[in-house]
Amino acid sequence: MKFFNQSPAEQVAGVMRRVYDSGLTTATGGNISVLDDKGDIWITPKGFDKGSLTAEDIVCVHPDGTYEGRHEPSTEIFFHRATYRARPDFRAVVHAHPVYCIAFSLTRTLPRVDLLPDTLALCQNMNISTYAMMGSPELGENLYAAFSKGADVVFLENHGVCVGGENLLMAYQRFETIEYAAKHDLLTRKLGQVRAVTGEQLSFWNARPIPAMQALEGHRPDKREQAIRTEMLQKLRRGCEHALLFGASGVISARVNADSFLITPYGMDNNLLEDEDLVFVQNTAAEAGKQPARELALHAAIYAKHKEINAVFSAMPVNVMAFAASPKRFETSTIPESFYMLRAVPTRPMEEFIRYPERAAAQFSVKIPVVLFENCRIVTTGASLFTAFDRLEVAEATAASILVAREAGQVILLSEEEIQALKTTFHLE
Ligand SMILES: [Zn+2]
Repeated sequence: MKFFNQSPAEQVAGVMRRVYDSGLTTATGGNISVLDDKGDIWITPKGFDKGSLTAEDIVCVHPDGTYEGRHEPSTEIFFHRATYRARPDFRAVVHAHPVYCIAFSLTRTLPRVDLLPDTLALCQNMNISTYAMMGSPELGENLYAAFSKGADVVFLENHGVCVGGENLLMAYQRFETIEYAAKHDLLTRKLGQVRAVTGEQLSFWNARPIPAMQALEGHRPDKREQAIRTEMLQKLRRGCEHALLFGASGVISARVNADSFLITPYGMDNNLLEDEDLVFVQNTAAEAGKQPARELALHAAIYAKHKEINAVFSAMPVNVMAFAASPKRFETSTIPESFYMLRAVPTRPMEEFIRYPERAAAQFSVKIPVVLFENCRIVTTGASLFTAFDRLEVAEATAASILVAREAGQVILLSEEEIQALKTTFHLE
């Protein structure tokens, strides 16, 4: 992952393009900055197409207000400056007007972030700043007041959202997560009953150990392993593009041999991974110099217990997670394709996912390729990376269709006889 070797201008241009490509801003909306060690602020230019930004378009604003670059700085430079003044620990600020955050900005309320540990971890400290006209020094003063109370995320009344972080990657992940949380809150409301993460669950979540592995020195991927790495990268990219995986969440793995597999690393951004970042794990050893994801134990237990499984995805696509945060069952007997791909999906306690990987792995079988864990993840498995990916995509589409259908009228699921006929015809028993 080359992100931290990039210049501030390269980081700002790259993340702004990512915000635009993810549909989280319009072509001229939103602005991003990084504060460097000299006190210079590297910020996106005023009124420029965010879809075609390059590092050369980023403007460097000095502490005395003079600037260098081929464009004028964003008109919101006032509030970027104010945010850095309010939070000296911030080195990056991201601001935009994504749809679900706007919904809360217009209602002048805050979304629930206590339904998933991931949203709690990144967005727990929120505040609302009073309306002021865009580009005005007054808007800067209002944001200063909101951030100086310790908020990491500030909703701007009738405007949008602004987040900060200790670096631009952290700020971006927080931005992506608050828009996710805003959408997740509204989707979960459609199900009526909601189940929040408890304080004890959050403590266990945060205390999940980083796997301690022996160092496997001198590992060289052979042709076959290299092909698996390339395919994993393709699935990661597509998963991020389709909002099935996110920068800060989602772990995928693929079996290499009977006692080895590849898994995504700990603490890196899924969007920015390269194939050499994937970690080769063999028994109790991991490729030297690399750190496997914290979900390693569950993935390892699944491969050990189920010889037919060659790929595992654990992820939090937003529509599925609405069901994960509600006592309402995630039904898959909606259309034949959903049941065919997913079968009946059991819901298991969050504790099993966090603390008891062996027990969680034992839930899977040929008839149960997908398991939903309360308030945290859906885990899909398959004989190939493609099948595990397909199951994740079908699960999210199924959850989304139920949530939409509830608005269209009464949802009618396939009957027991219809499901039985499917099982018989397609040999699902
Ligand atoms: Zn704005």
